[in-house]
Amino acid sequence: MASRGEAVKVVVRCRPFSEKEKAAGHSNIVSIDKAAATVSIVDPRSGADPLPKTFTFDSVFDLASSQQEVYNTTARPIVESVLAGYNGTIFAYGQTGTGKTFSMEGVRDVPELRGIIPNAFEHIFAEISLADKSTQFLVRASYLEIYNEDIHDLLNPKAGKLDIKERADIGIYVKDLRNFVIKDVEEMDRLMSFGNKNRSVGATEMNARSSRSHSIFSITVEASEKGPDGEEHIRAGKLHLVDLAGSERQSKTGATGERLKEATKINLSLSALGNVISALVDGKSSHIPYRDSKLTRLLQDSLGGNAKTLMVATMSPASYNFDETLSTLRYANRAK
Ligand code: ADP
Ligand code: MG
Repeated sequence: MASRGEAVKVVVRCRPFSEKEKAAGHSNIVSIDKAAATVSIVDPRSGADPLPKTFTFDSVFDLASSQQEVYNTTARPIVESVLAGYNGTIFAYGQTGTGKTFSMEGVRDVPELRGIIPNAFEHIFAEISLADKSTQFLVRASYLEIYNEDIHDLLNPKAGKLDIKERADIGIYVKDLRNFVIKDVEEMDRLMSFGNKNRSVGATEMNARSSRSHSIFSITVEASEKGPDGEEHIRAGKLHLVDLAGSERQSKTGATGERLKEATKINLSLSALGNVISALVDGKSSHIPYRDSKLTRLLQDSLGGNAKTLMVATMSPASYNFDETLSTLRYANRAK
């Protein structure tokens, strides 16, 4: 833990049983010790190892953990460092149906059920309103989706596939991606709703598509103030809020053709992300493989270095999800 310092944090959140799971009588295989920050799971199959497997993280959250608690312990310090001019990235990783979108977005019209993204909006504009009036802030937002290793602007869906470019002065960027200047929480919220509608092309495909694509909501905060020397000083921080594609092993679903091609690409970017984060955490690698996927390439300047990274790994408590849950815990464990 000491070697990686504060740069990468990994937390795990276990959702409650759904009504359907309760009705079906699925048993619980997860136990969570919040004080020790451990998660233990037991293989429910007969003849399997009777002892639980235990993993330790930076924090763990159980079904009773509130959205506010998750925000305060995980995202708040990252948003604070973005306001101070650093970059940060927050990922939700996990099997489809385990609470990635609940954790990132939540239920936006129910205040206590709002997730990390709307809480970050509130937090940013609250801090700006408290800041010294001599500081000028400029907040901008963009919202994109990576689907099949193609980048689409969710705020300008007609634009088609966009390309990643690199320039000496500004670094990595997405060419022609819309970047809106935002003046308050309501505007940010409207932008997000607009973008979410554009994820749902092909109505019945909506769930399928959102579980196969990565979405990235990015907020840039620029602050300019006059220093004691009378010169204008500008600091800029970027925050990426990422709802990853479902981590379930696509190969198991017997996919063929287009679906199989898609599956391969999802697995590619999730494994590339795992490799980048574990190389960063390890601290010994001289080569960080950012170029292996669009996702890691795009986030290159916000992973590692001075940037803060948080991964929220979400999981189900139910016995029938044992294999996927174990694989999520292993992935998350490798990232720490
Ligand atoms: P994912 O985005 O990972 O596919 P969702 O966020 O859509 O999963 O969650 C699946 C379902 O479980 C949703 O109905 C969601 O409201 C519910 N859910 C997920 N996590 C929690 C939680 N921590 N507390 C209460 N309900 C949750
Ligand atoms: Mg989701």
